Formats: sequence, C-alpha cells, structure tokens
Amino acid sequence: MVEIPRSHPRYWSLYYRERIIEGMEKGMTARAGLIAHGRGEAFDYLLGERTIEPAERAMRVAVAKFLLAEHPVVSVNGNVAALVPKETVELARALNAKLEVNLFYRTEERVRAIAEELKKHGAEEILGLNPTKRIPGLEHERGRVDEEGIWKADVVLVPLEDGDRTEALVRMGKFVVTVDLNPLSRSARMADVTVVDNVVRAYPRMVELAREMAGYSRRELLEVVGDYDNGKVLNEVLLHIRDRLTRLAGEGVWRKKDLE
Ligand code: ATP
Ligand code: MG
Repeated sequence: MVEIPRSHPRYWSLYYRERIIEGMEKGMTARAGLIAHGRGEAFDYLLGERTIEPAERAMRVAVAKFLLAEHPVVSVNGNVAALVPKETVELARALNAKLEVNLFYRTEERVRAIAEELKKHGAEEILGLNPTKRIPGLEHERGRVDEEGIWKADVVLVPLEDGDRTEALVRMGKFVVTVDLNPLSRSARMADVTVVDNVVRAYPRMVELAREMAGYSRRELLEVVGDYDNGKVLNEVLLHIRDRLTRLAGEGVWRKKDLE
C-alpha cells in the first residue's frame, strides 16, 4: 500500500482509496468498483463525512429487523471486502446472520478472493461459492444466489448495491437493507431501510448497536422498528444536505480550512 502522510488533511479519504486499490490488486474489487467508490466519496463530501441522525435511526431499525429475522443474510461485494472485511465478519456474527458473497460482476476468482479475505478475518461459513438459484427478473450471472443464503433469506443487507438488484430483491418479498451514500440512487430509493452513510462508519456503529440490542426482547425490538418510514428518512437526508449547503454558502467556503 502506498504510504500516506498522516499529516495530510484528507488522510482517511486517501487511506480508503488505497484500500480499494489494494482490493483490486488482491482480485476482490472490480474496476467498476473504483468508480462506484468515487461516486460515494462525492456524496460523503456533501453529507459532511459524518454519520447524520437519519442514518443512525435507519441503522437502529436495520439492526432490530435483523435480530427479529428468521433467515438474516449479510451480502458481501468487492468494495465492502476491501474496506471493511473485519467489520463485515463481526457484524454478521453480532446479528446471527449468514455471510454470502454476492457480486454484480461475478467471477469465480473474485468470489474466492473475497471468501479468503473474510476467512482471514475469522469468518467460518461463507455462502455464495456455489449459487444454484436465481433472482427472478435478473439475467443469469447477475441473478445468481445461494439457496441457503439470499434465496431463503427474509432480511438481507446489501451494501453498495446496484439499484436493479435491490429492486429485484424487494420484488421477491425480502426485507432489504442497504448502506449507500447516495440518497438518490435507485438502491437507496428501493430498499426498505436505507442507511445513507459511508460503510466504513456504518459497519462499526452497527456492530455496536447489534451488541447493545442483543439482549432486547422481541417486544423491545419491535418498538425500535416502530412505524419507521424510509421515505421520510430519505427526505431528511436530502434536507440535511440542502441545509448544510445553504449554511456553507452563507459562511463562505473560499480558503476556509475545515468545513463542518
Ligand atoms: P443505483 O444502481 O442504485 O442507481 P449507481 O448505479 O449509481 O446506483 P452502483 O455502482 O450500482 O451505483 O452502486 C454503488 C453505490 O454505492 C453508489 O450509490 C455509491 O454512491 C455507493 N457507495 C460507494 N462507496 C460507498 C461507501 N464507501 N459507503 C457507502 N456507499 C458507497
Ligand atoms: Mg447501478
């Protein structure tokens, strides 16, 4: 990995960029994954590169839904494996969920490389190596899923997912949770719960929440879910961005050192 000076004002951004590049070099991340990462970074700039309240609320509901689920599955792709491999394994464990490698650009080598990385971080069972089922409405390679995983799942977490696939999962009747920095993406608009946050912040927080809520009763978990309204949460994210930009424009950003 290229050495990044700790003093650089954009240290973390550059650090995760290097992680994505490294993910590609390890054979896990697709070239298009680099582009998707850049799109995410742009939205993170607009959000203010922090976890905002609507995202925190979405995470709490997502975790509660997972703890209430019968067959919960956490899906893993090449970007997620590059950015948060350890947190992915921890999250699946804390949620009692299965891990499935599920790729938009599926190749056997990429699936194997991701499974290896997850094993290195302590994963035991990994699904998606031999997917025998297909999501209706998606053509062959894009639709392949594991019979014991996403196929059977009632609640699925599909972070950084393509909108078409998110929609197909919703149509199958799954309860779909996504993590996506772009509140306007099709995935963000199609999912049942959208966590508009960077996966590098969202996953550690969701692990904390899962451990905290592990002792909750069913009733308490249902209370957390309450009458959650994903449309309202997405609107709040848009208003957060609008209000922040309005404030920044008022303060002026020219030669301003740090933005809040
Ligand atoms: P859609 O298909 O949902 O309309 P898209 O085609 O713009 O979206 P995809 O490449 O299909 O994008 O999905 C990747 C999504 O992941 C993008 O919306 C991008 O903003 C988001 N993303 C990229 N990096 C991160 C990250 N680190 N954390 C959270 N979201 C991210
Ligand atoms: Mg897409």
